[in-house]
Amino acid sequence: MPIFSVPECLRTWAEVDLGALRANLDFVRQRIGPYPTILAAVKANAYGHGACETVQALAGTKPIFGVANLHEAAEIKSVSDGSDVMLLGPCLPSERRDAVEAKYIVTISSAAEAMAYSKFGSVRVNLKIDTGMGRIGCWKDDAISALRSLQGVPTIKIHSISTHLPSADEDTAFTTAQLHDFTKLAKSLHSITPTAKLHSLNSAGILTLPEFAADIVRPGLMLYGCSPIPDFPTHLRPVLAWKARIVLLKDLPAGASVSYGRTYISSTPIRTAVLPVGYADGYPRQASGQGCGVLINGQRCDLIGRVTMDQIIVNVSDLTNVQVGDVATLIGRDGNVSIDAQELAHRSGTIAWDILTGIGRRVERLYSEAP
Ligand SMILES: *Cc1c(COP(=O)(O)O)cnc(C)c1O
Repeated sequence: MPIFSVPECLRTWAEVDLGALRANLDFVRQRIGPYPTILAAVKANAYGHGACETVQALAGTKPIFGVANLHEAAEIKSVSDGSDVMLLGPCLPSERRDAVEAKYIVTISSAAEAMAYSKFGSVRVNLKIDTGMGRIGCWKDDAISALRSLQGVPTIKIHSISTHLPSADEDTAFTTAQLHDFTKLAKSLHSITPTAKLHSLNSAGILTLPEFAADIVRPGLMLYGCSPIPDFPTHLRPVLAWKARIVLLKDLPAGASVSYGRTYISSTPIRTAVLPVGYADGYPRQASGQGCGVLINGQRCDLIGRVTMDQIIVNVSDLTNVQVGDVATLIGRDGNVSIDAQELAHRSGTIAWDILTGIGRRVERLYSEAP
């Protein structure tokens, strides 16, 4: 277990275990074999884990780093150690020059979009194909003609041809059919641009259908130690633990109401602890009244009443020896009990991606080792 030195003065923080991050990358590697390149999705501040530290921790394995936009790409540029960076989403017209000059691999959805980049110089493009996501990407029936019209444009190099899976965590039958379709289409495309790399798998795809790994895989969530599929057996290790110190202990009589809207009324006298974290820190407001809890001194304590902007209240009546300054775990393990991001997400009616990327700026990130 990594050791974190946590200053007394920290109110809420996230402990990021970079050893676990690297172990999860190794787990991806085991599933896909030695050949495919790993594109590590580090968008959205590396799913809340800290983009620069995450990139530094992984750069030695020479992955491609996947980011959402130019701003995120610039943030990691100085630490990515020469690794390629791919912009996973489109650029605005005004951003294209910078993307080309910085030599990022850009994702395009049409030949016209690629041509617009190429005005600014040589560019490597990832031709995205829409095979069911209905978001970015060139509609699959138009892919061959798009690729043909880029053939022979000297400033455009087709780095890769890819698609995205909308239901890999929910619908393996659809996903399998989608991947067979894409593989067939990719064969024709490949005969036009034989050096283009093929990719389609996100974390759920890597777990369920690793035989479709092709040339590149694009894990995100699983690198951070969360399985996108409930109960899927993995060797993933959670990378992030979220903690907060008790700032106040208070006794309330029976019949007292707790938090906005008075949705919780104590039926007996209770002891409450106030934690300095709320929905402004990314603790989901929808967690209110859903059986969520936090861990204190190795015991689970119920969240009571509504989550507020800056504070939550938990019931610590069953704890002996609890003190102001004691540490509560919102996500993570404490002794024999644990709460993972998936559980908090599930109870709050959302997904682990949303919880992790939502952890806010007031939550200081601590790292287990110098990255
Ligand atoms: C974010 C992203 C991924 C990673 O998805 P996970 O479900 O987190 O593994 C893969 N591909 C693309 C295009 C993405 O934008």
